[in-house]
Amino acid sequence: MIDQITIGRIQEAAQIVDVVSDFVTLRRRGVNMVGLCPFHDDKNPSFYVSPAKNICKCFSCGEGGTAIHFVMKHEQMTYYEALKYLAKKYNIEVVEKELTDDEKQAQSDRESMFILNEYASDYFAKILNTNTEGIAVGLNYFKERGYRSDIIKKFQLGYSLEQRDALSIEAQKAGYKRDYLLKTGLSTGGEYNQPLIDRFRGRVIFPVHSISGKVVAFGGRILKKPVNTGKYVNSPESEIYSKSKELYGIYFAKGAIVKQDKCFLVEGYTDVLSMHQAGIENVVSSSGTALTHEQIRTIHRFTENITVLYDGDAAGINAALRGIDLILEDGMNVKVVLLPEGEDPDSFAKKQNAESFNRFIAENETDFIRFKTELLLKEVGDDPVKRAGMVSNVVNSISLIPNTIIRSVYVQESSRLLNIREGILIAEVNKIRKRRWEQKKGQKEKEAPREEKVGNLELNNSFGATDSKHQNKPFSRKSPYDKYELNILYYIVRYGNTPLYQKFEVRKRKEGKSVVEEEVLLEEGPGVTEFVSYDLNRDEITFSNDLYRFIFDKAVEHMDDENFDSRNFFLMYPDTSVSKLASELLSDRYQLSKIHSKIIGEKEGDKNSRLLEQNLLFNHVPRATTELKNAYILQKIEKLKEKIKTSTPDNYASLISDLKQLQEIKKVLAKELGERIVLKY
Ligand SMILES: [Zn+2]
Repeated sequence: MIDQITIGRIQEAAQIVDVVSDFVTLRRRGVNMVGLCPFHDDKNPSFYVSPAKNICKCFSCGEGGTAIHFVMKHEQMTYYEALKYLAKKYNIEVVEKELTDDEKQAQSDRESMFILNEYASDYFAKILNTNTEGIAVGLNYFKERGYRSDIIKKFQLGYSLEQRDALSIEAQKAGYKRDYLLKTGLSTGGEYNQPLIDRFRGRVIFPVHSISGKVVAFGGRILKKPVNTGKYVNSPESEIYSKSKELYGIYFAKGAIVKQDKCFLVEGYTDVLSMHQAGIENVVSSSGTALTHEQIRTIHRFTENITVLYDGDAAGINAALRGIDLILEDGMNVKVVLLPEGEDPDSFAKKQNAESFNRFIAENETDFIRFKTELLLKEVGDDPVKRAGMVSNVVNSISLIPNTIIRSVYVQESSRLLNIREGILIAEVNKIRKRRWEQKKGQKEKEAPREEKVGNLELNNSFGATDSKHQNKPFSRKSPYDKYELNILYYIVRYGNTPLYQKFEVRKRKEGKSVVEEEVLLEEGPGVTEFVSYDLNRDEITFSNDLYRFIFDKAVEHMDDENFDSRNFFLMYPDTSVSKLASELLSDRYQLSKIHSKIIGEKEGDKNSRLLEQNLLFNHVPRATTELKNAYILQKIEKLKEKIKTSTPDNYASLISDLKQLQEIKKVLAKELGERIVLKY
């Protein structure tokens, strides 16, 4: 963990232009620099870098943020890794925070396991390339299957000797502890101080790399006819390896996936190798296990588009079908390519180069609905019962798609393919979605009490592995107040403690023979944060969105601090969900609701006119809070009206009187919104 002071130094040193320039060619345009966006297929430069604000932003796809965000996104690093990267770039010594003994133990355990895995990976590679058995059996196998030396080297392929304890002995001689040999699963046995036995014996070895390139596990393929063991043996689950999370090849594929905006999904290690060798690098494999949501979410960090590439045999088709529904549920676009009979991606890619391979994909890629219906149509023939089952199978897949528009496109297409009226399919899809929603709701209600406790937001300050969790999880549901709360936050983050207004008087003063004019401050309004806090408190309104409320509370904490620089404070805030939102609000393109943007318009940049800015705050901060209050009142009125509809005669009168009162407040608010607001403070 990195301490706050070091984080501050890194943030100060990291000049956005400098950092982005390492990856993007920038040209000057006015006060900004522009270049082709690295995050989408950019034809005209839409990636803006502002040296003054020290942030970057793509005006086309919306990516951007501080230097740290840029590195995180571009290099697919965690917050912690990005800080380390920048520290290295600017020669800043990283002082790590004091850890508790437990944390130290956990960290050193994990680190020791990574170091041992790295050692083992080198060891297996050395055996493959220099040991007589390794060359004769292992290297020979890879060569026979047509893998080039550069691919063998790139993926750090290796070989484990037949000898039952070769690695265990060698590693302990080199000083590695038994404990970690067992924890990583490289060795087994060892009870009652018996000697350790190697897990991998007489196998070619495929190291599994994490996104950041660390060896987390190994897969070993047996070369002889297997006796009592499977064709593949894999590392067991450990503190550093969770089978359901890792994707084989992701480290070598991530750059290409972003660039092509597409990821090929295959089944085995060797499929990945052969495709790389053919020049197709945007490929990962779930390596033998059934695809999981966690793996799909990892791919989703890099692209929206997955093309499933499976063998044309029955097993391959079934695996493809299972995967499709999971991918759809994650809101990604999924296509399917079935290879010619008798081919798997490994054998097929070996006969292709990148160009012919891509051509084949382009010609044979089908969207999942066509794939599924054609497949099922073939299977069911004319049997009406089977046909009904097939329709519901297809409809079920469609109902998983979260996006309404995409869903309806697929309904149209399947209506055509299945020759069933669209209306019938829509009704079916909606029925399934409703049922699933009710099930989920039932589950949620059971879990509800627990959720309440979590509601009190505690921002996670321990960075590193847990960071990505934050980015994927929105802080709270969308509420009808979201828009208004965000408008208020816009002023809070931009102006912080800037007074709402200031009144000056020009006084003339004699200095020697000449007369000097000077501005004297007569009167000053409350700071922006102070005003909002007072105004909302008065009506007992708090932000409904957890993230917004967190930011607002932070601003309130610094309300009396004269030197508080709200822009930098939030922009540099260690939690990325806070700093990302701040950079959104500070970017020029941030869309305020119409009336606010109309008033602010171009004038804001006019630095000569301090008065203009003051006027702007004086008029529009109160307007923003009034709009939020108005939204609250409207909701209240709606609810009350509902209540009145079902009320008993006894409390009818009191409800009506409540309603009248609310409507009075509404009138006042409407008037405030309609007129120029007179500040009563
Ligand atoms: Zn972009």
